[in-house]
Amino acid sequence: MLRPVEPGSDAACPYCGVQVRFAARQKGRKVIANVYVDGRWDRVETYHEGCYARAGEPHGPARA
Ligand SMILES: [Zn+2]
Repeated sequence: MLRPVEPGSDAACPYCGVQVRFAARQKGRKVIANVYVDGRWDRVETYHEGCYARAGEPHGPARA
């Protein structure tokens, strides 16, 4: 799913390794992906919106 980047976010993007920061002057968006391992929820990964697309949407299409 897509969510606006919120203040205080400090998760690193798995694709580029840069923290997904809140940027007040940008229409920053991030992709929050729930990652399942063997059918069980394992973790949440946070990508920059563009990085998720460049990574080939590894966890499926992002939904608005
Ligand atoms: Zn990124």
